[in-house]
Amino acid sequence: MKKPLLLIAFAAFALSPASAFQTSQPDPAALRDAALASDTVAWDLLEGLTTEVGQRMAGTEAEARARDWAVRRLTALGFANVHIEAFDMPVWVRGEERAEIVAPFPQNLVVTALGNSGATPVRGIEAEVVYFETVAALEAAPDSAVRGRIVFITHAMQANQDGSGYGPFGAPRRRGPSVASRKGAAAIVIRSIGTDYHRNPHTGVQTFDEGVRPIPAGALSIPDAEQLQRILRRGQPVRMRLVLTPRNIGRRQSGNVVAEVPGTDPSAGVIVIGGHLDSWDLGTGAIDNAAGVAITTAAAHRIMQAGRPRRTIRVVLFGAEEVGVFGGNAYFAAHRNDGNVVLVGESDFGADRVWRMTTNLAPANTALGDRINALLAPLGIVRGRDRANAGADLGAWANAGIAAIDLNQDGTRYFDYHHTPDDTLDKVDPAQLRQNVAAWTAVLAATANAPERIEPAGVAAARQ
Ligand code: ZN
Ligand code: ZN
Repeated sequence: MKKPLLLIAFAAFALSPASAFQTSQPDPAALRDAALASDTVAWDLLEGLTTEVGQRMAGTEAEARARDWAVRRLTALGFANVHIEAFDMPVWVRGEERAEIVAPFPQNLVVTALGNSGATPVRGIEAEVVYFETVAALEAAPDSAVRGRIVFITHAMQANQDGSGYGPFGAPRRRGPSVASRKGAAAIVIRSIGTDYHRNPHTGVQTFDEGVRPIPAGALSIPDAEQLQRILRRGQPVRMRLVLTPRNIGRRQSGNVVAEVPGTDPSAGVIVIGGHLDSWDLGTGAIDNAAGVAITTAAAHRIMQAGRPRRTIRVVLFGAEEVGVFGGNAYFAAHRNDGNVVLVGESDFGADRVWRMTTNLAPANTALGDRINALLAPLGIVRGRDRANAGADLGAWANAGIAAIDLNQDGTRYFDYHHTPDDTLDKVDPAQLRQNVAAWTAVLAATANAPERIEPAGVAAARQ
């Protein structure tokens, strides 16, 4: 068995010494199929990170342990140039959180603080609830209707495959607190930005506008938000007591963990892929985003095991994404002028199966896009018409005109768990996780070994 393999390797070397490494790379379809059938690296990483570290709130000691964990694992897997690129950031940590209807029907509600929420006194605040269906309705209301009250906003987000409800229906979280504060509200609670009917609130970042006083800002679980609406519909004044005691603990260190599969041809450029290492603190951040960390690392590892690719593959596990893309911004600021990044892509939408691929490849790379598409089609992945945006952490590169590839995952159940205590390992389906690894392996096999130049997509193309 060994002799014929050696003879084949020798023949390849004799025919084309310069490309011996590339010809030793197995067929991309074979790499893809092996990942789909039997990858265990991604599950090991996902299980390890969520078990041995757990929640990884940005800028905290837990996130630092996650970086150390990642350095150990990436080194053990054989990656080169494994290191941490540190940066500073302001850190917000959760305190106590309780909500209670005082009148007319006393009862407790389930609430969690939104990122950067202001704090109530330790014993809480008590005020009348004023309800708005949308942020626009809140904006249109006279300040006198809001001043001193607890604003409550709902939304009509529904589950769907492409997750497109998150943008428009996320406004109560992203903009509601600033608008409510400007109008003199005592606090704000929103219907969680999610699609489940479990009694789990969904946290998530919001940032008060410049000069706006931080007020307490919480999310009610969806059953509790609907309960509050029913109580309000009875027509009597509704009084709520709210306790939220988060704290800003000043600037702390976070960091990005970087690892490489070195290429044979330094002039061919670097492909940057990854996910984010930090998570919210309520669950263990399995789908958001230990999964992306695991998927992209496992795919790069699979290419590395198959022999040196032509291009360097760099895996970046970003810090502090959840609280404002601090890691992605720090990475772009530090490396935007390196001049060697030719392609970017992030996995940050859970671990359910990839159903669509989108790119923003330059017209000169149409053939490369077609080859990637052909490799992904057997996994049930269609080609989308939208331009790739490379995710939160690498989006700045796509906006700057670097080529990007997105592998869109099925988002039908993503927002049932997103940013809740329910984001735990058991929500990941191992077979769908392997399909993700297979898809990223196929993309890396096609692009890292592509004989043609990977061209900048161009700024105009990226913005379409
Ligand atoms: Zn994420
Ligand atoms: Zn998230």
